[in-house]
Amino acid sequence: MSTLFISDLHLTPDRPESTEYFIKFMHEKTKLANTIFVLGDLFEYWVGDDATKRLGAHTVIDQFKRLADAGVRLYFMPGNRDFLVGKKFCAQAGFEYLHDESRVTLNGHKILLLHGDSLCTDDVEHQKFRLIVNQKSWQKNFLDQPIESRIEQAIHARAMSNSDNENYSESIMDVTESAVISAFNQHSVKLMVHGHTHRPKIHKHQVESTITNDNTPTNIRIVLGDWYEQASYLELIDEKLTLYTANQSTSTTLIS
Ligand code: MN
Repeated sequence: MSTLFISDLHLTPDRPESTEYFIKFMHEKTKLANTIFVLGDLFEYWVGDDATKRLGAHTVIDQFKRLADAGVRLYFMPGNRDFLVGKKFCAQAGFEYLHDESRVTLNGHKILLLHGDSLCTDDVEHQKFRLIVNQKSWQKNFLDQPIESRIEQAIHARAMSNSDNENYSESIMDVTESAVISAFNQHSVKLMVHGHTHRPKIHKHQVESTITNDNTPTNIRIVLGDWYEQASYLELIDEKLTLYTANQSTSTTLIS
């Protein structure tokens, strides 16, 4: 049996290819899966569970519900685009809700799961935005507005952040190394899996508190890819982790 991790599908009716990759993945790649983790940005934007129909998300719900009904355990973690996904959506699609930065134990190994934007501490503007929209009062005020007005604001925010990104250097938008190291230490894990940066890769890190004499990397950080042009996912079978993206795959083994 396998555990699958996906993130950054950015599903939206505006980009039907990604939904096609998703449906294909759900039919072809989940046959051996007993657990699936969605680590944020499943949707390009989400303006509240009451807008599910308007956002055209019924297909996504049906696909996950089918697996949930077949006994697959599904976990949803919010990203910076779909942080307003709530209990109603999770119940409809068969998800258990996982807060950002959750530590889970899989096959006897502790793994830190996170969307990844919390590690981008050099992106000061985004961290400010994150603080604001995570406030209960901000969320309540937003969700109290009419659906069409919320969608307008989400599209506007998306356009703003897209134009901002073009002005930033690559290093700002990637994770900050010191934030990665402190996340490893804070959660006492040697493995973390996240998305957000759209730079799929298996990284090896040396973490100071566990440094060895022979310069061997002590920790692993796996970054999931986006679904703009293909499916991208991480598969865990026994001790082996394989990252699939753009017709390529790289593997590593769990370390303890
Ligand atoms: Mn993201």
